[in-house]
Amino acid sequence: MGESLHEKAFREGISRHIPSVAVDYVINLLHGRGVEVKVVADRKTKTGDFRPGTPYQQHRISLNSSLSEPQFLFIFLHEIAHLVVWENYGRVKPHGNEWKQQFQKYVEDCVALGAFPKELEEPMLKHVRKGYASTASDPDLYRRFLQLSNKSVLFVDELQSGEQFTVGDGRAFQKIGKLRKRIKCYCLNDRKHYLFQPNAEVRRLESEKN
Ligand SMILES: [Zn+2]
Repeated sequence: MGESLHEKAFREGISRHIPSVAVDYVINLLHGRGVEVKVVADRKTKTGDFRPGTPYQQHRISLNSSLSEPQFLFIFLHEIAHLVVWENYGRVKPHGNEWKQQFQKYVEDCVALGAFPKELEEPMLKHVRKGYASTASDPDLYRRFLQLSNKSVLFVDELQSGEQFTVGDGRAFQKIGKLRKRIKCYCLNDRKHYLFQPNAEVRRLESEKN
């Protein structure tokens, strides 16, 4: 069966963003659903979204352009699950059971295809089995995606106790140690103690060595 020009262009477009072994899989999921897929400039508040169609407008899925291939595919599957749930069930809870089952199936299929790097397989399977509604609420997977997109990222739990660091607002801290699931740190500016999430992004303060 031949492909129309439109499908060819679409295939070329998404091939630039997702692992090649998953291209046919994604095209089959979208086939005949009447959806417009847009790759857009990065938004700070979201990586992708799905908007249901109206009588005048197709369904729309948008995805941030700078996502790494594995994250792009993962978020794409998240949004396609919204689309399919919308078509099958209409207005139900956005991240309810219908959506969770759909998303889990897609991710498991793509893991089976070998579409994701090996080190992401377990965190992704865990993510869908636990039913997380977003990557940002899953610290383990969130961190792995960050590491894929920016190798220089450093998390507070990677520092040794006693090391000093700064955070986004410029305040400086010294790491004390773990306190249950969080990291206790001492602020060098206001001399108070603070608890950090382990995956808080930090910059190491290099001490003078001479
Ligand atoms: Zn969602």
